[in-house]
Amino acid sequence: MLEEYLIKLIKFKTITKDLQTTEEALQWIEDKIEDLPVYVKRYEKNGFQSLIITTQKTKTPEIVLAAHLDVVKGSDNVFRPVINDGKLYGRGVFDMKYAIACYIKLLHELKSELPKLDLGIMITTDEEIGGTNGVNYLLNEEKYSADVCVLPDGGKNWELITESKGILQIKVKSVGKSAHGSKPWLGESAIDNLLDFMQKLKAEELFDESYYSRALEHYYNTVNIGKISGGEVVNQVSDYAEAVLDIRFVSKENEVDIINLLKKIANKAGKIEIEKTISGYPLKTDENNVYVNQFIKIAAQNGIDIKSTFTHGSSDARYFSENRIPVIVIRPDGGGHHSEEEWVDLASLNKFYQVLKMFVVNNS
Ligand SMILES: [Zn+2]
Repeated sequence: MLEEYLIKLIKFKTITKDLQTTEEALQWIEDKIEDLPVYVKRYEKNGFQSLIITTQKTKTPEIVLAAHLDVVKGSDNVFRPVINDGKLYGRGVFDMKYAIACYIKLLHELKSELPKLDLGIMITTDEEIGGTNGVNYLLNEEKYSADVCVLPDGGKNWELITESKGILQIKVKSVGKSAHGSKPWLGESAIDNLLDFMQKLKAEELFDESYYSRALEHYYNTVNIGKISGGEVVNQVSDYAEAVLDIRFVSKENEVDIINLLKKIANKAGKIEIEKTISGYPLKTDENNVYVNQFIKIAAQNGIDIKSTFTHGSSDARYFSENRIPVIVIRPDGGGHHSEEEWVDLASLNKFYQVLKMFVVNNS
């Protein structure tokens, strides 16, 4: 059944923003669970739909199983699932329709026990573009919560992701005074000021590799100039320039420190203005949390030795972390997400399903 559900889900080309196909896939999921004793709710924010299934009439179930239905673009080929050598290939098979297939199967297998369980399933459709209208909306506006969330959208081969960096996107605007390029002393170059600002920022200790002990694995604060523009014509001193910075930071405290630092350097430079355009929390999961611990133990009973690690990428897990909901981010054996060769190992997937089921049953 698991493979069948998964194959069907891959065939829906639920590329983010394809609202119609996404709606069709959500409807298919709803139809699959039609006869089960659960509460089903659909939400929509700025066109993006989410589906919530709960076993009790509540917005705060004990356990939430979360997943996103949207996928990134790919050739027509990747939407035709193929099984080869114990692996299932296709767009979204690992990122992360396999989880949705597990959740549907779980609801069916636990059918008679559902009224006793306090379980929620959250399926959103905008993770690949930031999750603002999905998980963010459901947690921060609709006020959904849980004691623990399972969001198997990171890591590989049973690595437990306990940390990932936060994101800050900052627009830096620099204003100067124009003059003819042959007489630069009469003007003030906005480009020079901007470059100067960037150099000072990058030289700060907060962005130094040595700031964190795991610097060798690049787990420190970073800043990248993602975009830069300025100047009108070659023979003129520019009076305006701007850059957009992509800053990744390790801890919540860093965010405040970084903003203060940006302001301090900007003030010193004068004529530099900074504006925060996007920010996202870092993920922190405590391995000693009772649910996390239990998940690790159940995996061990199934012969899986879970090791924790961190990731440089980001996912909807950050919204749960921001709301102080412990979030279990772990995946079975698979890989190639966002590539033409996305796959999941079917034996490992079935084991994942068993661990998930035991975890849910143990908490009822
Ligand atoms: Zn994903």
